Amino acid sequence: MVKMEGNNYIYGAWERLINRRAVTSPADTQETLGTVGLSDATDVDRAVSAAQEATRSWKNLGGVARGNLLYQAAAELEGHVDELAELAAREMGKPIGEARGEALRAVGVLRYYAGEGFRPTGDVIPASNPHVLQYTAREPLGVVGLITPWNFPLAIPMWKMAPALVYGNTVVLKPAEWSSLAAVRMFEILGPLFPPGVINLVLGLGTEAGEALITHPLVHGISFTGSTGVGAHIAETATRRNIKYQAEMGGKNPVIVASDADLDLAVEAIVSGAMRSAGQKCTATSRVIVLADAHEALRDKLANRIRSIKQGSPLDPDTYLGPVVSKPQFDKVMALIDTGRREGADLVVGGPAQDSHGFFVPPTLFDRVAGDATIAQEEIFGPVVGITPVDTVDAAIAQANRVRYGLSAAVFTQNLKTAMTFVEEIEVGMVRVNDETAGVELQAPFGGVKASSSHSREQGRAAMEFYTHVKTVAIRP
Ligand code: NAD
Repeated sequence: MVKMEGNNYIYGAWERLINRRAVTSPADTQETLGTVGLSDATDVDRAVSAAQEATRSWKNLGGVARGNLLYQAAAELEGHVDELAELAAREMGKPIGEARGEALRAVGVLRYYAGEGFRPTGDVIPASNPHVLQYTAREPLGVVGLITPWNFPLAIPMWKMAPALVYGNTVVLKPAEWSSLAAVRMFEILGPLFPPGVINLVLGLGTEAGEALITHPLVHGISFTGSTGVGAHIAETATRRNIKYQAEMGGKNPVIVASDADLDLAVEAIVSGAMRSAGQKCTATSRVIVLADAHEALRDKLANRIRSIKQGSPLDPDTYLGPVVSKPQFDKVMALIDTGRREGADLVVGGPAQDSHGFFVPPTLFDRVAGDATIAQEEIFGPVVGITPVDTVDAAIAQANRVRYGLSAAVFTQNLKTAMTFVEEIEVGMVRVNDETAGVELQAPFGGVKASSSHSREQGRAAMEFYTHVKTVAIRP
């Protein structure tokens, strides 16, 4: 692969950054992919000012023209799906098939929001005077700052950018430091389609570039996806400034397996939910809560399936499980596996990592995890799943709710009453019956409750609520 040089994209031009760091592959740290620049507050200020400069003309272009531009962007991106997938796989370690699915998702998101440019956004409301026309209009926020994590380096930036743009905002994206090259390549492809200043990219650290973005007085909305700690900080900063924000954060997503469940179906969904993307999804399956009479059979089937997983290079199409993204992530996951063992859970599959130049965490299954154990409570973000047996459906739901997170959850059962009780009582934003916890479709609202999300939703039409203000208009002729 040709070495890439990641820089800022501001007002339609690339700006080279002096301060830089090398990017290496998490599958083989001896492979250098290129370098990325690190922005300071002055760089961020230039990007935000460029976005501000473009707000008026972009807003006045209207939804239909913006929608048409997004259709062009989707077609352009679609022509680069394989290349983007390979870059994402190399940079953050996701297996190539999944990376390709993610790149296609980014295309699908663009297409969905392109259509939004043609759809109604307001209501006509009866007025007391029948000759008065009273209606609501949707106004863009202005410049929005988008801050994204490394685990979906193509799809998450796009599911923030596309709605922001179609509803008339200009954007400054700050991608995660571990996956900036994917964003750089998307901007190389899409940048020339947009008027200068409409889409801007700043690379750098959260503590410097991210902080400069969320505190910039010309930024009127912040959409963030990442850890719960940083999300809370962004919420405080935005609330102090009285600007809109949304924060999509962590999860500790359970699967409940009832006694009457189709165990083979459940096993496939649990393994896919827990092991794809090396468990580095906010919606990854992290806990399995099983009814006692299905416990042993489920554990044995899960163990066999996990032992058969092929771990290896993200570029090998047969690989199911790649490396985790970075050394800090590797150390964190291995330490949590150690904690799980020390706190008394049974290690059924897994063990020490093999010596290699990559960050390969062995796929890990724990059994008899206590409900209050660290690995039953903390987000792991690695290929690790733990089983907790319980005696009743009510106890299963209570255990599922016994965490600070509330993002997604699933139940496997053939009993309608069990399914309905679960749907009604589980404290999460996204619920599945007989399907895995990960993988919400792009046209459906995405988000959680408790410590997982702020109070808005992403994706689908729900995004309009965040990226616009309502203006109430009454016209008396
Ligand atoms: P992170 O919070 O460390 O970083 C996320 C982004 O925030 C990065 O771009 C980072 O540079 C930036 N950032 C860090 N400090 C900042 C600050 N002070 N001001 C402004 N920006 C700052 O998270 P991560 O490690 O990149 O991602 C993993 C986390 O993301 C996990 O907790 C995972 O659950 C969560 N996640 C959530 C969702 C969701 O939709 N709920 C989706 C994917 C990932």
